[in-house]
Amino acid sequence: MGWLLGGCDFDEMSNIPKELRESLALEHIARPIEIAEELKSRDGSVKYLYKLFDGNVIEGVYMPHDYGNTLCVSTQVGCRMGCEFCASGIGGLVRNLTPGEILGQFVAVNRHLGGSMSDRKLSNIVLMGSGEPLDNFDNVVKFIKLVSDPNGLNVGRRSISLSTCGIVENIRRLADLGLDVTLSLSLHATLDEYRRKLMPIANKYSVTETVEAARYYFKKTGRRVIFEYSMVKGVNMSFSDARRLSELTKGMAAHVNLIMLNKVEGKKVEGCTALEAERFCEKLVSLGVSATIRRSMGADIAGACGQLRRKRLDL
Ligand code: SAH
Repeated sequence: MGWLLGGCDFDEMSNIPKELRESLALEHIARPIEIAEELKSRDGSVKYLYKLFDGNVIEGVYMPHDYGNTLCVSTQVGCRMGCEFCASGIGGLVRNLTPGEILGQFVAVNRHLGGSMSDRKLSNIVLMGSGEPLDNFDNVVKFIKLVSDPNGLNVGRRSISLSTCGIVENIRRLADLGLDVTLSLSLHATLDEYRRKLMPIANKYSVTETVEAARYYFKKTGRRVIFEYSMVKGVNMSFSDARRLSELTKGMAAHVNLIMLNKVEGKKVEGCTALEAERFCEKLVSLGVSATIRRSMGADIAGACGQLRRKRLDL
């Protein structure tokens, strides 16, 4: 297990008899995914394009921070959520990733950075790459259990953030499992009418129901919930939005993470200026909301969800 979680191939497992290594290699794949391409940003972040055994490609981002190094992992090839501003959903869902393929991203990058199972070079994980984690529930839960196993990679559950567009039943299921990961909810709007314009999932669940599920998650786990809010010019940045956001997030430990929209080719949604973002953030703070603007990384390396994969598919 140490060899596998360290990202080694069978022929590197030097304390295992040669015949056993050879027969293992015939029947199993030691490394279900491989790094196919690496793009380094000036800001220190790195975008990885991985190749899966069936030829599909997925991507991920490594982000160094003062508090530790974070890896953003994908949970599906493509995505069927179809959010208006996101590149990952453009071609729809291709398939779910297996627990091994999600774990494989962590293992591959950790090894690439010179780490092993016991000497990790990555401390935090965000499930914010391509795909909707709660649309691949069982495999994602299995991944979380595997990566946090104290006898294995031992990544603290509190160092893992799961970001969802808000599949309400599954937020509740996750809460009931008591995994203790941080829940990030992509809210992006405070009114159903506007949320529907940005996210098809809003046709299925109302803002009220969605936030209620987040509150349930907080009550069950005691974990502060992060609300992701991509600022869209003329759609979700009014004073009334700020007021509604402060009302919605009352009664639970919450933080609003404001996101500057990354422009995706072919998408009409328009982001805002840094100044407008700061004003909106100040409004929220003046209403007593804990809010910050997310530091954007990797703009020069197609850092946002699905952008690099799309570029490669176009070739
Ligand atoms: N499916 C999950 C996780 C993947 S996306 C989810 O919806 O939360 C991670 C975050 O990036 C989400 O908040 C998503 O809405 C946001 N996002 C997607 N495309 C973006 C873009 N072009 N610019 C800014 N944020 C984007």
